[in-house]
Amino acid sequence: MHKEVNSAAFNPYHMAVQQFELAAERLKLSEDMREILRVPKRELSVNFPVRLDDGRIKTFAGYRVQHNVTRGPAKGGIRYSPNVTQDEVRALAMWMTWKCAVVGIPFGGAKGGVICNPKEMSSRELERMTRRYATEISLIIGPHSDIPAPDVNTNPQVMAWIMDTYSMHEGFSIPAVVTGKPLSIGGSEGRNDATGTGVLFVTRRAAQRIGMPLKKARISIQGFGNVGSVAARLFYNEGCQIVAVSDLGGGVYNEAGLDPTSMLRYQQETGSIAGYPHGQPIGSQDALEVPCDILIPAATEGVITEANAGRVQARIVTEAANGPTTPEADAILFKKDCLVIPDILANAGGVTVSYFEWVQDLQSFFWGVDEITRKLEVIMNRSFDAIVQVADRHQCGMRLAANMLAISRVAEATQVRGIYP
Ligand code: NAD
Repeated sequence: MHKEVNSAAFNPYHMAVQQFELAAERLKLSEDMREILRVPKRELSVNFPVRLDDGRIKTFAGYRVQHNVTRGPAKGGIRYSPNVTQDEVRALAMWMTWKCAVVGIPFGGAKGGVICNPKEMSSRELERMTRRYATEISLIIGPHSDIPAPDVNTNPQVMAWIMDTYSMHEGFSIPAVVTGKPLSIGGSEGRNDATGTGVLFVTRRAAQRIGMPLKKARISIQGFGNVGSVAARLFYNEGCQIVAVSDLGGGVYNEAGLDPTSMLRYQQETGSIAGYPHGQPIGSQDALEVPCDILIPAATEGVITEANAGRVQARIVTEAANGPTTPEADAILFKKDCLVIPDILANAGGVTVSYFEWVQDLQSFFWGVDEITRKLEVIMNRSFDAIVQVADRHQCGMRLAANMLAISRVAEATQVRGIYP
């Protein structure tokens, strides 16, 4: 198996802008409109001290970027990782703008991140860091301005700390300031599984489109966290064969199929999928290249590149992660007739159920899981079909079509609102 490492020169923001320009060009968008849409509206960069358990002080750097708020309050996750950069957060914020527009929910796009290694921090250190970061960004977040959610290495507990910190400042509980919260404080049924569920819905639609039976389809998944592990379980329950799974530590391949529940237990016990005994060991990147029908990158950006796209064997690539495929790789996959379901559609189940959570919090009236799942399926299918229509009309791939649809919606909102003053 081949080993590819993420290129040090890879810059997600450059990639996001490149994707934007491609779609803007096809849309014949005016230079004035491009001038507005290609840059983030507001960026907050913070350095803040946190006391560690051993008494020392460490200063952390964090960001919150609002790319666009024309269609509604900014929305987007918070990521904790040693690899966070301002450009990564900018890219993710821009993708959030297009994602909310493409599924037709009334939000703009934002993202946040803190440079840290949560794996090396105690829970008390994480809590102190989260509360201080939440305080720093409380200048711009709020239930009607900017609503964070979980992303890489953040979870419902982290959201609970943010909700509590923000509420303490205001003097009363404000659940709608974040989504992805625990159920006990205004979280939504179905939020934990939402991104994976959306991934399943659009993949099912794509399989129907190319006449591939989903049952028994061979699935390979890179990334076994919030999104990847849920997707693995849902596809397994559909009768698919999970032939490969990898995480940062390594992976496993078994052409006869793997059991996601047993893998999750193993990962929880050992910290990684690496060394899982019921299959052949593979590297983190190898999951992208194994023989399979459907590939689900569910880890991080820039993993399918010009260098390895030619070796992708799947007929469908469902981008559960944000920005996993570079524009050069996109062109290669398109030529190979590989159907790429772009991130802004494929992983939009998360933000869609976050929207449901926000609406429920604002109304203090909560819905059952069946209603949530039904509404999610309607939105995912409708969005998939709308993108396919654009792709067919313009004879292009689904990424370009999705970006064109999203950008035209944000441009229309911008046009009709006009330029202040
Ligand atoms: P997570 O932290 O729960 O899991 C990330 C997983 O990816 C871990 O298993 C990690 O070990 C693995 N990983 C990281 N780098 C890797 C690499 N180079 N090779 C192989 N595995 C690697 O994060 P998550 O919330 O599951 O997010 C995963 C992706 O999905 C991100 O791109 C995120 O932006 C996107 N996403 C998440 C949500 C959500 O609801 N959590 C919604 C939309 C999109």
